Order: sequence, then structure tokens, then C-alpha cells
Amino acid sequence: MSTATPQKFEFQAEIKQLLDIVIHSLYTEKEIFVRELISNASDALEKFRHLQLTEKEIFDDRLDLEINVTTDDKAKTITIQDFGVGMTRGELVENLGTIAHSGSKAFLKALGEGGAKNANLIGQFGVGFYSAFMVAKSVKVYTHSWKKDETGHAWTSDGSGSYEIEESDGQRRGAKIVIELKDDCAEFSQDWKIKEIVERYSAFVSFPINLNGKRINTVQALWLRSKSEIKEEEYTEFYKFQSHAYDEPRLRLHFSADAPLAINALLFVPKENTEKLGLSRLEPAVSLYCRKVMIDAKPKDILPEWLRFLKGVVDSEDLPLNISRETMQDKSLIEKLNKVITKRFLKFLEEESKNRAEAYGEFYKEFGHFLKEGAALDFTHKDQLTKLLRFESSLTEKGKTTSLTDYVSRMGTEQKEIYYLMGPNRASIESGPYLEGLKARNIEVLFCYEPVDEYVMNNVREFDSKKLTAADHADVKLAEIPKPEGALSDDDVKKLTTWLKDTLGERVAEVKASDRLVDSPVLALNADKFMSPHMRRMMKAMNKEGAESPVRVNLEINPRHAVIKRLFETHTANAEKAKMVAEQLLDNSLISAGLLDDTTAMVARLNKLLESV
Ligand code: ADP
Ligand code: MG
Repeated sequence: MSTATPQKFEFQAEIKQLLDIVIHSLYTEKEIFVRELISNASDALEKFRHLQLTEKEIFDDRLDLEINVTTDDKAKTITIQDFGVGMTRGELVENLGTIAHSGSKAFLKALGEGGAKNANLIGQFGVGFYSAFMVAKSVKVYTHSWKKDETGHAWTSDGSGSYEIEESDGQRRGAKIVIELKDDCAEFSQDWKIKEIVERYSAFVSFPINLNGKRINTVQALWLRSKSEIKEEEYTEFYKFQSHAYDEPRLRLHFSADAPLAINALLFVPKENTEKLGLSRLEPAVSLYCRKVMIDAKPKDILPEWLRFLKGVVDSEDLPLNISRETMQDKSLIEKLNKVITKRFLKFLEEESKNRAEAYGEFYKEFGHFLKEGAALDFTHKDQLTKLLRFESSLTEKGKTTSLTDYVSRMGTEQKEIYYLMGPNRASIESGPYLEGLKARNIEVLFCYEPVDEYVMNNVREFDSKKLTAADHADVKLAEIPKPEGALSDDDVKKLTTWLKDTLGERVAEVKASDRLVDSPVLALNADKFMSPHMRRMMKAMNKEGAESPVRVNLEINPRHAVIKRLFETHTANAEKAKMVAEQLLDNSLISAGLLDDTTAMVARLNKLLESV
């Protein structure tokens, strides 16, 4: 067999089929061929670095371990050269003409099943080299193996079914891939275009990458280095570079795991929550890497939705190998990844909340919204997330918060439920009539200021087997406390409540003596199980249907209160005036509940009442 003249080879049938798809139906993301060839160059250099440690006889051994990319927009070519291990003639046939492993088969299968002609997959199946044919009229591989007694070769193909190999003198060690671009792919011979692509996918490759003589990768793959060696500034610089951010990170988690997957991750919480500022919903921004090479900048499923505020990198060596088997497995692999990272991040937050409570509080102010979303919607992580929630309460100072765990630790033995009240702010809850009965019984109440809280409380439902209960709900039963002196007798109360029910008519569902009022004369309780006062206010704000239906409440009266005692006297003596007072009291209770929509009638009545003073 003469090696001096070009020898023609047929590609293996599988590869022919693969090339056919690559050339004729992968139209999107053609740029990934750059990533694939640079990864191969980097792999070849890595292999060489290992060989260097053991081998003495090395061809062309004074070369820098680097990757040189050159573009020529006149000739419409791009060249990628490395000084790695190179290939012998036999290796050229073996590596570029056949496929020893099942990569191409799995790739074809995935393309068929997924339906999507997604070129981005190609590297994950160990068939990355062939992506060059998406953009190439012809591909030439000039190579010389690291082995001293070998000769150089040139491998050539237009991807149409066969390739040629001939001897080629004067080659340096490693491989030089020259791509003659198709006319409609000429953009890949532009310096700026390639710079953009390399920065996007290959910024963290450990060997220097020079583009037309200029080094373009300068940031290290920090996530693979040991924590103790990394300076604070390096983390910050990395964050800014990788996340295209201008702020400094607020929190950082750098960790690695071996089981069930090999993972190296570096995650950041930004300073600000831009969603809170009213900017658009955040997109997943933790990028997926495999050994320093980016697979996907915005993978959808490696984190749960509520962690969409995280930035950073997840790198897993296990990725391509496993993904190449079957699509079913891809999913379970991503799920595994998701599970490990989420669990680790939740543990991190729990530690932060204990060890650096103040910083955690600041984080919570900015990003607590996402934790609430998770607690309400992510059933798997609900318990851990609920532990991370924080609220002001009737026992905290203004601006200070408590966790549910701490709330429960303060609960008396009698208390079976966790109480909360919704309101726009602390002052309005504290001055409202709902708190006083619980306060009189030394029961702590959580204060919820955000509209979403009600939804969260309803979805979370319970914590530590204790029901989360809205303290303004009609169903709330409070323990007896000794009745103060001077209250109306039970008989009189009965008369008055019956009269009130008649007088107020449709506006009340029920009138009864209250067990929770201390300082206020009356209290309106939610009679509608399905629409709390708060929900009603929200629906009104959003102009939703249902908010306009007439308000009907349960009215509770305080038999100890002077106004009620006075009303009892008047209701027989001066029925007309008593009716006005009764209506005014009902309106007052509705105002406290935030349920009085139209104040015109109320003001007119009040003026009339004032006349008689
Ligand atoms: P993978 O990189 O996943 O093995 P590729 O299709 O990208 O799949 O490459 C096929 C094989 O060709 C590689 O495994 C390697 O043996 C060989 N190869 C590709 N590029 C180079 C290179 N620049 N130097 C040496 N060998 C290479
Ligand atoms: Mg490859």
C-alpha cells in the first residue's frame, strides 16, 4: 500500500447518514462548530500534557500548549490549530472515519425522537467533529502525531461520503483544521464573529486561545479551582464576566459533589432583584458546562422556576456520556442535577439564616418573594422553603422578623394553630379590631403585608402540623377569658343582636357577641369562606368580577363597650336614632376591614348624627 499518493476511503455507513443530516437539515446554531473544534483542540492538548509527564521521545517538543484560530475573509476560510497529541494515519481513519462508540447512533436517534433539528446536541454525543460540515465546502485536517517516528498527514473531505488521506511534510505536532466555508457561511471568516462565538462558548477553556494572533480567553474556570485558593475579587470578577453583571454578588455558593453526579457549581445571588424593580420576568441564567465548555447558556430545567434569580455555572463531567444513551435518560439526568443543586442551595440558605442572620434578612427583603413562590408552588421543597420564610409579628419590633419555627417555639400549650393577619402595614393591623382578642390571650399573630402572602399561606396550609389560620376568619374559635365587669347580660345581648340583625337586614349574615373584642365596639368578620377581605380588595384593584357583589359580613359586638351599652338603651327609647347608630357601627367595622367601598351614605348619616350631639 503506497502512502505517497492520496488514498480514498468511504465513511462508515452510520457516519454517511450523520453527515447527510448535518449538511442538509441542521440550520440553526451553526456556530457551535467553533465550540466543537476548540473543544477537540483543548482535549488534544490535555492529553498531551499528561503524556509529557511520562514520555521522553516527543516530536516537536518545544511548542506552547495553545490554540491558534485564524480567519481569512478573502479566502473565506477559518483555521483552528493546536499543538496537542495529533493523529497518526491509523488514528485519522479510526477517529474521523468510523465511530467506535455509539455516539452517532444515539445522536441520530435523539434527533429523530426529539423532532427538533438541534445542532447544539451534536457535541454531547461525541460526534462534534462532523459539525464542521454544517458550514464547510471542504475540511482539511493537517496533523502530526506526538510520536517521533511518525510522518505528517493531510485528511480531506467534502462530507459527501468519502475522504482522502495523503502524506504531508512539514507539519507541526498536533492538528490544524482548515475549513473552506460555504458561500452562505462566509460570516465565519470574520474576526469579530469568531471572537463573539469563542467568548460565548469557550471563554473558560484552560489553554490560551489566540484569534489572529491575539489572546481572547483570559478568565479562568473558577468553579473547578479549590475554594481556599480563590480571592474575593476573583469571584466578583468572575461573576461580572459570566453573568454580564455590573453589581457585586450578594451571596455565593461554591460547591462540588461526587454522588449521584460529579458536579462543580458556582452560584451567585445578585445584589438586586430586578423583577421586583418591575423589569421583566427573569430567565434561567445558570449555565450548563461540561468540562469547561458551555453546553447551554440558559438551560430550562436544571433549577426549579423559583430559583430563576440565580446566576453562575454548573459543570458536570457526567453529562455527555449519559446524555448519549437515550432521551429518557436525559430527562432523569437533568432531574438529578436539579435535585442535587436545589437541595444544596436550600441547605446553604438555611445555614446563612442561622450564621449570618442579618445578611439573610437583607437577602430576604430582596428575594423573599421567590422563596414564597417556591413554598406555595413547589411541593417537593415546600417544607424547607417554609422554614426560610420570615414575617413581622405582634411580638417582633417593627422591621424585625420571625421564622415560623421560632413562632411555634413560643406557642402556648393551648394554642393549636398559627395565626396571621393581612394588612398593608404594621400600623393598620395593630390599630384594627382583629388583633385585640388574640393579644388579650397572649397569642402571637404574624403580620403579612404583601398581597401574595395570602395566596402563600393558603397554599402552604400548615407548618409543623399546625394549621395556618387567618385571624380575621369567622371560624376562629378563641379560648374563654374572664368576662370583665359591667357587660350587658346575656339576655340583653340576645335582644340587641336580634334587633341588630333585623335592622341591618341583608348587610349582615349573623350578629353575635364577640369573644375577641377588648377595646373596640364592633368587628366585621368574613362571612364568605371563599373571599377574604384582603382578596376582595385585591380583586377590586384588578377590576376583577365578584368584587362588586354586595358585602355581607358577620358582625360581632362587644357587650362591655360603652357604645354598645348605650345602643341597648336607645334601641327601645329612640328607635330611629338607634338605627342610624347601628348602621354607622357596621360601616365603622367595614372601614376597619377595608370593605367599605362607597362612603357617601356614611358621611351623610354621620353628619346627621352629629346634629343631635
Ligand atoms: P469526541 O471529541 O467527543 O471524541 P469528535 O467527533 O469531536 O468526538 O472527535 C472524534 C475524535 O477525533 C476525537 O475523540 C479525537 O480522537 C479525534 N480528534 C478530533 N480532533 C482532534 C485534534 N484536534 N487533535 C487530535 N485528535 C482529534
Ligand atoms: Mg469533540
